[in-house]
Amino acid sequence: MNIEEFIREIPDFPKEGILFKDITPILHNPETYNYVIDKMVEYYSDFEIDYVAAIEARGFLFGPQIAMRLNKGFIPIRKPGKLPAEVISAEYELEYGTNTIEIHKDAVKPGDKILLIDDLLATGGTTRAAINLIEKLEGEVVGIGFLLELLALEGRAELKGYDIYSLISD
Ligand code: 5GP
Repeated sequence: MNIEEFIREIPDFPKEGILFKDITPILHNPETYNYVIDKMVEYYSDFEIDYVAAIEARGFLFGPQIAMRLNKGFIPIRKPGKLPAEVISAEYELEYGTNTIEIHKDAVKPGDKILLIDDLLATGGTTRAAINLIEKLEGEVVGIGFLLELLALEGRAELKGYDIYSLISD
C-alpha cells in the first residue's frame, strides 16, 4: 500500500514557513489506518516490551492501538497540567517554539521495557524529552516507532543508540 498518498502537505501551518505533514487522511481510511498499525505491530512482535508509551496528541492515534494489539499496557505522555496524579516534566525545543511534556511518576517502574510511539520524527526534540522522562523513572526504552521520519531534520542523530523504526521516510 502506498501510504505516502495519504499524507498531505499543508503550507504555513502552524506558522508561516512550516510545511506541515498532515496524517489525518490515513485515519480517514480504515484500510490505511489498519495497514499502518499492522506494520508497526509486525515490526515489534519479537521485541520484549512491558508497556507502550506515546506522546500527546498524534502519538495517541497510534500508540494505544499498537499497545492493544501487542497485549501491553499504555502509558500516556501529555502536555502540562493534563495528567491528574503526581508527574515529572521535561522541557524541549520544537521545530516551532518550546514545549513541556509530563508523565505520571508511578507509570514506569525501574527496569520496565518501554516502546515509545509518535506520529512523526522531525528534529527528535520531542522524542528525546520523552526518553528523558522514561529514563528518569529508570525505565528502559527498547524501541522508538514513528509513522513518518523527516530525514532532512536528522532526528536520528539526537536518538543515537536506540532502535528506531519509521514506517515511511521523506
Ligand atoms: P520534533 O520534536 O522531532 O522536532 O517534532 C516532532 C513532534 O512534533 C511530533 O510530536 C509531531 O507530532 C510534531 N510535528 C512536527 N512537525 C510535524 C509535521 O509536519 N506533521 C505532524 N503530523 N507532526 C509534526
